[in-house]
Amino acid sequence: MVEDPQKNVTAERLRDFYGHEPRVFMRTFGCQQNVRDSEEISGMLCALGCAIADSPEAADIVIFNTCAVREHAEDRVFGNVGRLKILKERNKKLIIAVGGCMVQQPHIAKKLRESYPYVDVIFNTNEMYKLPSLLVRAIERGGGVVEIVCSEFAVREGLPVKRDGGFRAYVPIMYGCDNFCTYCVVPLVRGRERSREPEYIKAEAERAIAEGYRDIMLLGQNVNSYGKGLQSGESFSSLLRELAKLSGDFTLRFMTSHPKDATHELFDTMAEFPKLAPHIHLPVQSGSDEILRRMNRRYTSGDYLELIDYARRAVPQITFSSDIIVGFPGETREDFDATLALVREVRFASLFTFIYSKREGTPAAAMPDNTSHAVKAERLSELIEVQDEISERREEALVGTSRRVLVVGDIAADAREGRLADNSAVTIDGECPIGQFCNIEIVSRTKKRLYGKVL
Ligand code: SAH
Ligand code: SF4
Repeated sequence: MVEDPQKNVTAERLRDFYGHEPRVFMRTFGCQQNVRDSEEISGMLCALGCAIADSPEAADIVIFNTCAVREHAEDRVFGNVGRLKILKERNKKLIIAVGGCMVQQPHIAKKLRESYPYVDVIFNTNEMYKLPSLLVRAIERGGGVVEIVCSEFAVREGLPVKRDGGFRAYVPIMYGCDNFCTYCVVPLVRGRERSREPEYIKAEAERAIAEGYRDIMLLGQNVNSYGKGLQSGESFSSLLRELAKLSGDFTLRFMTSHPKDATHELFDTMAEFPKLAPHIHLPVQSGSDEILRRMNRRYTSGDYLELIDYARRAVPQITFSSDIIVGFPGETREDFDATLALVREVRFASLFTFIYSKREGTPAAAMPDNTSHAVKAERLSELIEVQDEISERREEALVGTSRRVLVVGDIAADAREGRLADNSAVTIDGECPIGQFCNIEIVSRTKKRLYGKVL
């Protein structure tokens, strides 16, 4: 990444236009990768002298970083953009910028241009370093949309980051995705897989640890295929080993892992290094082999269960979380029962469950889908019920055990919040400094909440 030679001019233009430091309100929709992208946008704008506003009403510039994974996420963005119209009418100097995965889709960019003409800037996050100059162009133009369609899907280096995750630092290791699951829009909007060079990742992780971040979360759409195309021959497991050897008191985690690329070596590495959190988010999507085949996931439920079994033997304390799509086109009751059976067998610590959402341009959008939304919604409730029961049993089994938690903040006058390896929350009683790891005993639970005391 080259330093913007126009940086000072850009900062001056923005300040002159508003007569003060521009105040920026940012809202992020979607996944951790988007959160990280927004941290870079904020970092870049703060480096230009902008201040952070805590509401659109208090802002000169409003930026939405959007998600395209499901229609619901897009509807929320349109709703939020719609609510800005009145602010724009009151404040002609307000600049509205909408970027991210959603606007990478031509039909969405068109809808924004046509139905939300008061949006000033449409930008994509792959070239977000151009955002400041787009804001200046919007000011100079004084109306009409300034837009950038993606012309490069590069690896970004060198942008400032304004971290927003408490004790957690997001560190991207790869961008894009080559998997083309048939339901998923991500490869279309984020481009082909490309990995960051290990030196940059290591340097960023070291900096974050030195700054006091205790929870280092490596990010990528498919972290297990990290290294493809790199000269160094680095693999995900070798990268993990290098990072786990860094000095300092921190925990290392990663997401997302694709089951077809998760290797035994990965679990052996997790077993070897205590700094690697004994938890993995391993989206299974369905328990039916036929649905998995039509999703183009390239594993069977048997492969998945074998992997879970190996992981449990290699890392006895390991916990799993997963994503499941209910109501994929053509999903029968038998297919869904296979999903329930898999969920009962694995006993996930937590599940993220979604009703299938048709995404324009993906192969699944053309598959016949005769199941009603009502039936899909019923299946979703059934799945959630099964998982709730499993989570309850799991929490009951935790009572009386000791665990290491990261203390993340105050929760009440006399209690603090800690996070287990799988990131679930525990209310802690007793002396435990915020920002430190501490050993606790889990003493009780109520519905969806664990309580512990410092050992
Ligand atoms: N790269 C990650 C995350 C992708 S998006 C992975 O492969 O796991 C996060 C989750 O959203 C996916 O795991 C999937 O469960 C869900 N998802 C993706 N596309 C979807 C769609 N069209 N409808 C419903 N859920 C979807
Ligand atoms: Fe989408 Fe599949 Fe890639 Fe995940 S692995 S981002 S679900 S295409």
